[in-house]
Amino acid sequence: MRAKRATQSLSYPIRLADEVQEDALRLLDASREVINATVVALWDRLDEFGERETKYAYKQVTAMIGSSDPHGDRQWRCEAEQAGRILRGQAERKKQFALILPLLEQGMILPKIEKKPARKNRKAIKAALACLREEYSDGGSTVELQSLIEQACNFYLTHGCFPDTYEAMQAIPVLKVGILPYAGDDGGEKGQAYRLRIDLEGQCCYFAFRVPDQTGSWPASWTEPQLRLLLPPPVVEHLTQGAVLAPTLREIAEPDGTRYAVLDFIIEFPVPELPERGQVQRVLGWDWGVRTLVTATVVDLSGNRLAPPLFLDTGGFDGRQAHTRGQIDRLKKKVAKLEARRDQFPVGDPRREPSARKLVTLRREIARCWRKYEARNNDLAHLASNILILLATVWEADLIAGESLKSLKSEGRGKSARGRWVRWRTNSQIRGALWRCLRYKCHLAGVHLAWQHPRGTTHTCPQCGKPAQTYASPALEAPALDAGAWLRCFECGWNGARDYAAAINIALLGVAFLKQDYETGRHARPTMKTKPLNSESYIGSGLALRLSPTPSRGCLDGGKMFVNGWIKSVTLHSALSQETMLRLCG
Ligand SMILES: [Zn+2]
Repeated sequence: MRAKRATQSLSYPIRLADEVQEDALRLLDASREVINATVVALWDRLDEFGERETKYAYKQVTAMIGSSDPHGDRQWRCEAEQAGRILRGQAERKKQFALILPLLEQGMILPKIEKKPARKNRKAIKAALACLREEYSDGGSTVELQSLIEQACNFYLTHGCFPDTYEAMQAIPVLKVGILPYAGDDGGEKGQAYRLRIDLEGQCCYFAFRVPDQTGSWPASWTEPQLRLLLPPPVVEHLTQGAVLAPTLREIAEPDGTRYAVLDFIIEFPVPELPERGQVQRVLGWDWGVRTLVTATVVDLSGNRLAPPLFLDTGGFDGRQAHTRGQIDRLKKKVAKLEARRDQFPVGDPRREPSARKLVTLRREIARCWRKYEARNNDLAHLASNILILLATVWEADLIAGESLKSLKSEGRGKSARGRWVRWRTNSQIRGALWRCLRYKCHLAGVHLAWQHPRGTTHTCPQCGKPAQTYASPALEAPALDAGAWLRCFECGWNGARDYAAAINIALLGVAFLKQDYETGRHARPTMKTKPLNSESYIGSGLALRLSPTPSRGCLDGGKMFVNGWIKSVTLHSALSQETMLRLCG
């Protein structure tokens, strides 16, 4: 058994019953006003939120300012907590902005040439990001830095200069939908803003919250918890090992205008301890595929391959995403046409009306498509990281090695530069999401995670370590192709899927990193040029059979890891044997 170490909190949204929705939304609206007023009032003092002496953001806020609309001290503390969390997040972002400020130079914007308008120089942006490489280990924040650089470039395109300060380009981040963390209150039993009682046997809880009445006045007296909420099975399961933290009341706003309130149920529970690095016996390597999203395999410390490659094929997913993107493009064209039709008439002319009405509907539809698109990316990231952790678990690999996000390969399949960019950005979004998911899930599962330098991993023979070419197909006469899916080594004769070769190479880098770290204490990452070992043999037939061919629906590992229900199915297949092909249904 692994001993208790750190704790981790997980949050589950539970929709409140219809009869209290009106009350909850009224409360959230009132709180939102106070939170926004607080953020606006403290925006000039943003830097002070870069330093923290206490875990609770409300303590920092209440020491600086009083409520704009006093309606109870604990209620104010909860509002101050949310305002403080927003300001702390922005202060962190501002610190990152200080990193990119020296890199913002004219080269990031290409000047207007004849008919082409001024635009961003993707190459310069990428180079600037590369300069920041050394500062960040796994590149997880590269995506955030990129968003800051983009934001600064957009500022340039509008204003003709880069912003001098973070605040110059960042509007004050006021809340558009309500959120109220009860962390500022005195707890479920003694709370003055909320009460919560758990009935574990009944698999439910009783919740009550203080709200203003329809006239806006707040009651002074308190009633006992009345509202019974059923707890979903994962909450019940985690409750048996963990503790309940103060919940958060939150508004969900659908693009069609409907809104409702959920209670985020937050549970803190212990995470398993990481095994000592010196105890790790097997390493799982995975690579971002050319044809597939992720390819994974496992090696032991001598470099022997213990498992056939597993490919996470997202063909259907890609198709659906491409469809949604196409739909968005079509809707945007319609919007442009309608805008032109509307603008034929002067402002105030009633003939503008029909187009204006249709525009509202279209914009709502576009927003809905974007949400769907982003939700799918996130679902895919969760699914892929769950599968990697599942594979690490069944293959008993205590270290997962993956290609660093910093590479952000721009090899796309779109024909135009724009198509390539869209593809690259999409990938970087999914990759960023996958790294974030994987990091926290590895933490929860007690598995080590280490990024590796990707350079050379796709064009090196995993068996002899010599440079190797990739080809369009496995046929001997197939032409050499830089982004070919097949790798063939003419030195030793090894040949296999290029993504499999890359996954083995990354696993080998993981082993080299582990050995070096353990034997010499050096933390520098090995590269394909410096790694001391190759993968000479395949002894994996026994391991592959340990993967059950029929996982239960919607659940990967005894109720521990859940496949998100959104993605209907995903195909996991092995290059070596059709028998290990799995179909996972969500
Ligand atoms: Zn070779």
